[in-house]
Amino acid sequence: MDTDPNLNGKRGLATHAVHAGQPPARPGGPVVAPIVRSSTFHWSGPGDGIDLLYSRYGNNPNQRSVAAKIAALEGTESALALASGMAAISMTLLATTRAGDHIVASRHLYGATHALLSHELPRRGITTTFVDPGDPTAWRAATTPATRVVLIELPTNPTLRVFDIGPARQAARSAGAILAADMTFATPVNIRAAEHGVDAVIHSATKYLGGHSDLIAGAVAGSAELIRAVTKVMKLYGGSIDPQAAWLLERGMRTLPARMERHNRTALALARWFMSIEGVRQVIHPGLTSHPDHECAARMLDGYGGMLSIVLDGGGEAADRFCNNLALAAAAPSLGGVETLVSQPRHTSHVDLSPAERNTLGIRDGFVRISVGLEDLEDLKADFSGAVAAALGAAV
Ligand SMILES: *Cc1c(COP(=O)(O)O)cnc(C)c1O
Repeated sequence: MDTDPNLNGKRGLATHAVHAGQPPARPGGPVVAPIVRSSTFHWSGPGDGIDLLYSRYGNNPNQRSVAAKIAALEGTESALALASGMAAISMTLLATTRAGDHIVASRHLYGATHALLSHELPRRGITTTFVDPGDPTAWRAATTPATRVVLIELPTNPTLRVFDIGPARQAARSAGAILAADMTFATPVNIRAAEHGVDAVIHSATKYLGGHSDLIAGAVAGSAELIRAVTKVMKLYGGSIDPQAAWLLERGMRTLPARMERHNRTALALARWFMSIEGVRQVIHPGLTSHPDHECAARMLDGYGGMLSIVLDGGGEAADRFCNNLALAAAAPSLGGVETLVSQPRHTSHVDLSPAERNTLGIRDGFVRISVGLEDLEDLKADFSGAVAAALGAAV
């Protein structure tokens, strides 16, 4: 990797997105690296002078080039692409813990990550203490001599909380643990988490990194030592990314900075616009001064992201009518694609909680999460104002 001239650390993020991991130019060679669908590669023994290549090992050319691009964007020594965001999270946690070890994690986590920590890892002797990530003393207080990993996620789903990484980092350092962070909602365009002391930067690449809602993938970036450990575990559990998905992910990542600039801009403009719309009780976006973490977000992030949430007057029924009266935006889970998607946490990520439990998390009925796509702002406003009118109209 260090011999690749495309990984010159002085280059900017947009240049890395286009060029890092690309094959060196040679007359007659392809400008875009081909998809290498071969599971295995000619190799007769160590005398061949190269590593044994095998697509489950994560060293197929497409797997390697997308990993190099991820490392360049995150500014880390190394990176690894995996079969899904959950593969990235589970392989990282399994690589860094053993039976008897302890994890300190934010209470605000993606649902499947929360389930992994609270139900699956305990079966393997690994326990987790969940903390309120907004309480700066909670992180340190929850660590024990057995703590190996401190895990944070930001911005969180669906209330888009942006917590200071500092207290989690200090707790990890004083416990001799690694700091892992799921930065799916932020992307390396809005924050290079390694610069904030994150040792394992994790993504569901299914979302913004891929960016086109057409693949499932995950990524972890960090030191060469960490990535070697995660790769070793990935080979055994079989969580490597398919070369076709790796190729598609790399193709999507070439436009990541361009897409994020527009996601950031349109989401902030829409958030401000929603504040003036009758029938919208609350607008949640870290770029708004009304957001509880606005100052922290302004300090840590280069952009506020493409996600925003609204709470409609009229509760769940109004939210159902809103989602059923959109012409442009589609009702579907997931996020980070070029198309605008809306979803209601009470039907998706938070379906297992009671309304009262959701309320304490700030997810009142009427809550709609919006993944703002790349469409024209004016068209989105027209679509959303029609849907709010339909949501209100039927409520009267
Ligand atoms: C979607 C998501 C995941 C899981 O990713 P998959 O690619 O679906 O496995 C993990 N964390 C966050 C924050 C997510 O949004």
